[in-house]
Amino acid sequence: MVERNTLTPPHSRTRERESLAGGRDGESAALLPSPPTGGEGRGEVVFDVERLRQDFPALHQRVHGRPLVYLDNAASAQRPRAMIEAVAEYYREYASNVHRGLHALSERATAAYEGAREKARRFLGAESAKEIVFVRGTTEAVNLVARSFALPRLRPGDEILITGLEHHSNIVPWQMVCAESGARLAVVPIDERGEVPLQEFERRLSPRTRLAAFAHVSNALGTVNPVRQMTALARERGVPVLVDGAQAAPHLPIDVRELGCDFYAFSGHKVFAPNGIGVLYGRRERLEAMPPWQGGGDMILSVSFEKTEYNVPPYRFEAGTPNVAGAIGLGATLDYLAGLDWAAVAAHERSLLEHATRAVEEIPGVRLVGTAHEKAGVVSFVLAGVHAHDVGTLLDGEGIAVRAGHHCAQPVMQRFGVPATTRASFAFYNTIEEADALAAGLDRVREVFAG
Ligand code: PMP
Repeated sequence: MVERNTLTPPHSRTRERESLAGGRDGESAALLPSPPTGGEGRGEVVFDVERLRQDFPALHQRVHGRPLVYLDNAASAQRPRAMIEAVAEYYREYASNVHRGLHALSERATAAYEGAREKARRFLGAESAKEIVFVRGTTEAVNLVARSFALPRLRPGDEILITGLEHHSNIVPWQMVCAESGARLAVVPIDERGEVPLQEFERRLSPRTRLAAFAHVSNALGTVNPVRQMTALARERGVPVLVDGAQAAPHLPIDVRELGCDFYAFSGHKVFAPNGIGVLYGRRERLEAMPPWQGGGDMILSVSFEKTEYNVPPYRFEAGTPNVAGAIGLGATLDYLAGLDWAAVAAHERSLLEHATRAVEEIPGVRLVGTAHEKAGVVSFVLAGVHAHDVGTLLDGEGIAVRAGHHCAQPVMQRFGVPATTRASFAFYNTIEEADALAAGLDRVREVFAG
C-alpha cells in the first residue's frame, strides 16, 4: 500500500533508484513491458510474479515435504540472487578492509562500500552520502540517536514522544536515556483499529518534547502512519523527528527530504539485503553537531595520548572495521530494487493484502488485530481457542512460515488484550495462491482444534 499523499509516487522512486552498478539489476526479468499492441498498450507493465520469484532461490524449496510458503517477511525477507552473488564475489575476489589499504583489493572494497552508501542515499532520497551512516540495523540506529543526539540534550522533566505502536527497539533505547537523564517517555495511544490519531499525537507534543520517534509502518499490525503530517506537526514546534522505517523500506517509496524528518532508519535483512547491515539517515547539520558514540579506528582524524580529533560524519559514527560485505550486498539489493516498477509492485502488494485479509477473515473464529485504513504487508490475527504458537506450529507442518508471538511489540498486544498474535507478512514475491494456502491451512488448524 502506498501512502500517496505523503510520499513520492512510485514512478519517481523508480527513477531515483536508477542502477549505479551498471546492469546488475538487469537480472530481474519480472517486470516486462507488454508487447506493443498499436499505440495503446505500449509501455504498459505486466507484473509477472512467477518470473520475479526466479530471482529468489530460497523460495523454491520444500519444507516438511510441501512447497515453502514464506509469509514471515516482516521478520526477515528472502534474498535475490544478485545480492548473494555480490557478497560471494567480495569474499571470493577482493575481501579486504576499507579506507586503509593502498593496495588494489582494498581500493576495490572501498569503492564498493562507498558506492553502496551512494545507493542508500538514492534509495532514501537524501541530499548527500555524508548523511548515510552504516549501522547494524534499525536497533543500532535508534540506539545511536538515543546516545549521541538525545542524551546530551535531555534534562530532568524533558520528554521523548513515541507511539503505542512501536517495536521494542523504538521504546527501550529511549527508556534507557530517560532513566539516565531524568527525562520521561510520553506515549500517544493507538485506537481500536491500530491507528495513531493525529490529534492525539499533536496534543502530546509539548514544550518539553525533545524528540518524537515513531514507526513509518507497524511491524505487529501493518498500520501505515501518517508520517508526513506527524513530522510536520513536530517540526512546526521545533521538535526533531526520528522515523523507524524498518517495515516501510520493503514496501513504500521513501523520500526523507520530502518527509522532512531528521533521522530515518532501516534494516538490510528486511529489505532483501544481508543481515548485520542497516542505514541511519541523519540530516547533515544534526550529524555534524553530534559527538561520536563509539570510539576506535576510522572514526578519528588524529590520535595522541593528549588529544583525539574526531572524523567528520558519517565516519565519526562508524568506529572499527565495518560490515563491508553487508554494505556491498545492500548496494546490490538496492540496485535490484531500482530495476522494479514500483507502481506495479505497489498494485500487486495491495491486491495481495486485500485478498489475504478477506480470506483469513472468513475463517470462523478469526479476529483480525489491526484494521487500519492504510496498511502494508501484514495480516495479524487471533484464532479463537487456539494459541498463536499452535497455529504457527501447525502451519509450519504444511510448509507455511508465519510468525507467532508478541512481535517485539508487547504494548501493542496489551492494547488489544491478547498475549500474542499469528502474523502473516507479505513481500512482493508472494502470490495470491500463497494467500489462499494460508487460509486453507488455517481452516485445517481450526478443524483440528474443533475436533
Ligand atoms: N522497528 C521495526 C518496526 C521492526 O519491525 C524491527 C524488526 N522487527 C525493528 C525496528 C528492529 O530491527 P532490527 O532487529 O533489524 O534492528
